[in-house]
Amino acid sequence: MDSLVITDLSKTYGNGVKALNGISLKISKGMFGLLGPNGAGKSSLMRTIATLQEADQGTITLGNINVLQQKDEVRRLLGYLPQEFGLYPKTSAEVLLNHLAYLKGISNRKQRKEIVEALLHKTNLYEHRNKKLGGYSGGMKQRFGIAQALLANPQLIIVDEPTAGLDPAERNRFYNLLSELGEDAIVILSTHIVDDVKELCTDMAIINRGEVLLKGNPLKAIASLEGKVYQKTIEKQELENYKKTYTVIAEKFLLGKPIIHIVSDTDPHNGFVPVPTDLEDVYFSYIFSNPTTSKGQLL
Ligand code: ADP
Repeated sequence: MDSLVITDLSKTYGNGVKALNGISLKISKGMFGLLGPNGAGKSSLMRTIATLQEADQGTITLGNINVLQQKDEVRRLLGYLPQEFGLYPKTSAEVLLNHLAYLKGISNRKQRKEIVEALLHKTNLYEHRNKKLGGYSGGMKQRFGIAQALLANPQLIIVDEPTAGLDPAERNRFYNLLSELGEDAIVILSTHIVDDVKELCTDMAIINRGEVLLKGNPLKAIASLEGKVYQKTIEKQELENYKKTYTVIAEKFLLGKPIIHIVSDTDPHNGFVPVPTDLEDVYFSYIFSNPTTSKGQLL
């Protein structure tokens, strides 16, 4: 299958906010994690790929398709699950899916029924198919969102912050569903939750302030920082001083005391002990580091 290639994409909103600043990424089949804090530009990028808003500069191609120009072609191949999506609370999943399938042009009644039933099974909603959507849990709503996004058998699936508000069991179920989709399509998962990417994605990018800070395989990203992360338990009042002296990338609390993680190329001594690196360390080391030295690093 063709890759999605984004080249030098920029967007400044009318209020002067530069949400995208020269983004370049190549995204192939499988699960791709787009990781960044709130306000990083993730939704702006997702909406632009989903043909819902214009860019000021740059190109996006999906195989031979010019995404920014050939919007109808893209929409035929696209399944999009936005952060917030409307549901008709008094309608059942089966009725609404059937209706949406009709709007997508699946006019043969028998074929439509088969497609809708298959999707309800795939998303584990079959036994709840007659329940009103207003009574669905957060996880069930997200799975319904995926079911509707899959109606057209998309090659490109975009999910924006899908696990916010899901409990751990619902999240797991949703992860399983997404990774199944990644076997046949390009799936872009935008999230600020590092665990989402760690569990699911074979490829990722960390973005902040509209720029790509790191792109590559999550395990390689972890390996690149291996042996450089150190930990120490300190007193609360010492925290500010430590932040001035070291590159503090994480603060956690254990029994009321802060535990800090720092990045250092050499052993800092002073009571620090080396700890195994995880993706969260990588994420925060890039978010907190000087963007001019790390911009666009390729792993
Ligand atoms: P994320 O999805 O990573 O949280 P967004 O793409 O939503 O980031 O936002 C990036 C920046 O652009 C933020 O500073 C946000 O306030 C701003 N922004 C997003 N949408 C608009 C808009 N329609 N008009 C003006 N500013 C916007």
